[in-house]
Amino acid sequence: MIVIEDLLRLLLERGARQYGDEPVSQLAHALQCATLAERSGAAPPLVVAALLHDIGHLVDGGDEGAARAWRDGEHENVGAAALGHLFGPEVTGPIGLHVAAKRYLCATEPAYSAALSPASQRSLALQGGAFAPAAAAAFLDRPHAAAAIALRRWDEAAKNAMAATPGLAHFSKHIDASASPRR
Ligand code: FE
Repeated sequence: MIVIEDLLRLLLERGARQYGDEPVSQLAHALQCATLAERSGAAPPLVVAALLHDIGHLVDGGDEGAARAWRDGEHENVGAAALGHLFGPEVTGPIGLHVAAKRYLCATEPAYSAALSPASQRSLALQGGAFAPAAAAAFLDRPHAAAAIALRRWDEAAKNAMAATPGLAHFSKHIDASASPRR
């Protein structure tokens, strides 16, 4: 069973890898996403969700094989499941929905969809594409949908090769404040 120290080690060691075809490493992407969340005044669990939203790419050897084979590795579900015994639904809910939030935003905001990076456009196709209107409406009724949408906007903005962020240690306080008491 994964513990918080393992998570941080995963981010530091495997996170040095490039984030798909984006110009940043997985670790830089995670730190940028968490920094954007923190600067927006998000509550600690949502900052942690932003930091760990792509951990599903890194656990169990990651899903690079799946991506290479043009399958969807479902990293949002892998990540949410891996964190389920460490954090409550305020952390795992937005992580589990961050791909659905992208499908929602593509269905409802042409400007969001037009601004997606080429890599994010390619993964959208594998993830099922933009939601149809009924699915978009149903998405909004799910718990943590609003948090997942906020996370998704930071996610897209967190691909800046030049951005400066605090290091991982800066976010320990948010992790400690968000961890389940019986972990
Ligand atoms: Fe991401």
